[in-house]
Amino acid sequence: MVSEDEQQLHVMFLPYMAPGHMMPMVDIARLFAANGVRVTIIVTAFNALRFKRIIDRDIRSGRRIALEILHFPYAEAGLPEGCENLSSTPTPEMSIKLFHAIDLLQPRIEKLFREEHPNCIVSDYLFPWTVKLSTELGIPRLAFSGSGFFNLCVAHNIELYKPHENIQSETETFIIPGLPDQVKITRSQLPDIVKTKTAFSDMFEVLKEAERKSFGVLMNSFYDLEPAYVDHHRKHTGIKTWSLGPVSLFNGDTEDKAARGDTIGVSKHSCLSWLDSRKPDSVLYICFGSLTRFSKAQVTEIASALEASGHTFIWVVEKVIDANNDDGKQEYWLPDYFEDSITKNDKGLIIRGWAPQVLLLEHPAIGGFLTHCGWNSILEGVSAGVPMVTWPIFAEQFYNEKLLTQVLNIGIPVGNETWKIWATQDSPLIHRNKIKNAVSAVMGGEDVAVEMRKRVNRLSKSAKKAVEEGGSSSIDLTALIKDIRLYKETL
Ligand code: UDP
Repeated sequence: MVSEDEQQLHVMFLPYMAPGHMMPMVDIARLFAANGVRVTIIVTAFNALRFKRIIDRDIRSGRRIALEILHFPYAEAGLPEGCENLSSTPTPEMSIKLFHAIDLLQPRIEKLFREEHPNCIVSDYLFPWTVKLSTELGIPRLAFSGSGFFNLCVAHNIELYKPHENIQSETETFIIPGLPDQVKITRSQLPDIVKTKTAFSDMFEVLKEAERKSFGVLMNSFYDLEPAYVDHHRKHTGIKTWSLGPVSLFNGDTEDKAARGDTIGVSKHSCLSWLDSRKPDSVLYICFGSLTRFSKAQVTEIASALEASGHTFIWVVEKVIDANNDDGKQEYWLPDYFEDSITKNDKGLIIRGWAPQVLLLEHPAIGGFLTHCGWNSILEGVSAGVPMVTWPIFAEQFYNEKLLTQVLNIGIPVGNETWKIWATQDSPLIHRNKIKNAVSAVMGGEDVAVEMRKRVNRLSKSAKKAVEEGGSSSIDLTALIKDIRLYKETL
């Protein structure tokens, strides 16, 4: 007789050490566990602290989900203790050390997979070596992409047609050929790697190859958000995908939402009671994700723009590490006068470090989101029905911006023209007037803003429907679990 243990699928998740990768992957792992799958998530000690509370809650409610905690080789890589995540590396030099430390983990992770021999590996796409391992173990490898279909289609068509190669000027807009919509972009907004061979070029080829050799790709998206691009991707790449999102919606209650991703830089009660005292749709939420590092000058421009706009806001600020600060201080958060002034006038709330983003965005008082266009933030904004002010900085954020501003029409750009990793001191400054104008356009009562709000509210309803029983993402999840089971049974 087959024991219950043998019947139950065991899926092991290997998330990458960055919040934008780790958080949705933990959501997916929890979703699997809620659907009867035995789940193990491989994490390192400090990263585990970000999720322990939430996973312990799942365990108490009877789910078979566990964290497999590994020691992070920070000392071998020359990093300080606790520096185990891309979000804790304030300089590019430290990020490189972190990449090295992550590489050092590979043999131990491989050993763990061999010992556990799960029925499936869900691996961040940034770990291409899990393909070989899955072949050795005779199990499927699913890649987690962390982005949306629109981005994949744009990247695919830029690579295929190379439209930028016929353009001389960095600032002239051109149309990306072959897409379901007319999508315009400039050369200056394209990632470096598209235009020149960089240190990462070879690595990207390896990642693409690994994706092609995988059983399929898990997407944090939902069909009604980007239907033409889901279909386009299927037709033109032949890669099998399952759309499971928005996975942040799996965090159903306040406890889950407040505990998602990290310890909180402000008490959830003080945020929520402050928001409760505000009118619906009157507060702008500002957060640039987990990796953006602005210069001191840029932070000052944002502060001035917010003051000039007159709108109430919550601003999640990161500290600036700047050796060139004229006052000789290394660390900088905000202009000296700013926090006192906004607190005195009750104009805003500052959160230092980490905010319970999903919880805040869903509050009825939030009426706009100034975002760096990270894919998770976009999905969370859409799910909450909040129109966006778009300020992409690097990675695939400019592509994501075009989805919001040119296809879905639920965002207004601040007008950043330049892709630049990290948004460091050399990034062109976005002037306060540009920021203020975009904020006013989204937060004001003009027809454009009203229409955007209606559109994003419709998408919010579709997002919630997608993850309910019978919704497109829920159907994909059931199909995916069945596919993994079939793979196991045909062995
Ligand atoms: N996030 C959060 N609180 C913060 C900053 C970020 O909860 O103070 C979460 C946010 O909700 C999102 C993730 O971190 O789920 C960031 O991912 P995204 O793809 O938006 O951007 P990235 O950080 O990868 O650039």
